[in-house]
Amino acid sequence: MMLRRIVAPPLAANCYLILDEKNVLIDVGGDAEFIMKALKKYVDPKKLDYVILTHSHYDHAAAAGFFKGVAKIAMHKLEYALLKAQGFVSIFGVSFRHFDPDVELVGGEVFDFGETELKVIHTPGHSPGSICLYEPKKKWLFSGDTVFAYGSFGRVDFPGGSAIDLIRSLEILAKLDVENLYPGHEEVVEGDAREHIMRSLKIAKMFL
Ligand SMILES: [Zn+2]
Repeated sequence: MMLRRIVAPPLAANCYLILDEKNVLIDVGGDAEFIMKALKKYVDPKKLDYVILTHSHYDHAAAAGFFKGVAKIAMHKLEYALLKAQGFVSIFGVSFRHFDPDVELVGGEVFDFGETELKVIHTPGHSPGSICLYEPKKKWLFSGDTVFAYGSFGRVDFPGGSAIDLIRSLEILAKLDVENLYPGHEEVVEGDAREHIMRSLKIAKMFL
């Protein structure tokens, strides 16, 4: 098993590549040419089994359409509905290549990739269909834009965002045993990541 972070344009989104019995890319960024080239350092993109999107914002998901037919694309049902309603045009006016997800998630699904298992947790707040992915044995959390290191958390002022939902989602995440946090932007936390999530929850309750 190998885990690699790829920081992708246009807004430095963290994408995570897991090479296991099955190969998975969590988020793809907004630049198809960039992500394909970056992937090739580690794996033939055709050997990817899954692309899982933490949410539909263009900095994480706009290159997803280029993976259609290459890997199975999984995203939350509500997030796909939002993307469709927006006509695949982001709030920043960037349009995406249209795609239909191969797997529409609702939360609670468990992906078994070999040594790695990822449980889907629906964590609305930053967007209605945001998800986090939890690896229970390794105590890893891939948190998209729901929670970041050092007590930071996702914005709630985008379409479909909700402060109440975000706080509820952080409450769910704060109950998990998390060693390593792999957020959608900025620094990864390796060791005692639950402390960071607890701090985010505390600060979100103060400010939201
Ligand atoms: Zn976002």
